[in-house]
Amino acid sequence: MIKEIKAKTMLSHVPGPDGWFGLKYNMNLYRGCSHGCIYCDSRSSCYRIENFSDILVKINAIDLLKKELPSKRVKGTIGTGSMNDPYQPAEKQFQLTKKSLELMVKHGFPVHIITKSDLVLRDVDILREISKTYAAVTFTVITTDDKLAGIIEPGAPPPSKRLKTIETLSRAGVYTGITMMPLLPFITDTEENVKDIVRRAKDSGAKYIIPVFGMSIRTGQREYYYQKLDEHFPGLKTKYEKNYGMRYQCPSPDHARLEKVFLEACDKNAIRPGMEFFTPCKKEQPTLF
Ligand code: SF4
Repeated sequence: MIKEIKAKTMLSHVPGPDGWFGLKYNMNLYRGCSHGCIYCDSRSSCYRIENFSDILVKINAIDLLKKELPSKRVKGTIGTGSMNDPYQPAEKQFQLTKKSLELMVKHGFPVHIITKSDLVLRDVDILREISKTYAAVTFTVITTDDKLAGIIEPGAPPPSKRLKTIETLSRAGVYTGITMMPLLPFITDTEENVKDIVRRAKDSGAKYIIPVFGMSIRTGQREYYYQKLDEHFPGLKTKYEKNYGMRYQCPSPDHARLEKVFLEACDKNAIRPGMEFFTPCKKEQPTLF
């Protein structure tokens, strides 16, 4: 179900230096996401989204941004895509991401987008324009196996399409890379998968990969994830319960070895383990575990 809602504000300030993406502001144009990833953190109860598959469209977002952007003294990077995919199917109709990017061109703001969708190609010309300041598009790729992705990310374009989109964007001169997060314990946390992601990232022209060697699980998200584990990976829920109980941070049992494998693969393929920011950020890139 798609519903239109009115937001009160659009840009939230990111407290402290953001070691992963170098963000100053965060922006969510939608609530809910139809990509349906089984591991999605945005389902956590703390975000108070009643039905995550309902898409709430912030219909006054562009009017709010027209007021908020000129009032910001610091032109830091605006991030979008951490709570929902800004290029999920509803964006075809509502074009909030596109219109907000046009405003960023007008007001000279850098941008960082996280997505899994090739719909971003629609906005390549605008992104090239923002790139004169700074634009980065980061695709989440946690497996190169399209069949497995169809189970764990059922509503999103397959990884093969994401990698092709990286190639197109990269050729167009847009700074593009990958978030390899989360790596799902006992599902995608294999050495072969990590090596393959790095190799395919390099082949597609990605400039960086931001890794996490495990996942985080919170109340609300946990119930949904475990229900999907029962449906698609019988017996795995028990393994999670035994290994992690009610813990928030759930590192892969192999996280130290995987990190070593990852760094060696990045070195071999001359790909950056972490992205370059618009503004220098003193804090080192954090690892979750
Ligand atoms: S694309 Fe991102 S926000 Fe959307 S369901 Fe998947 S993990 Fe959640």
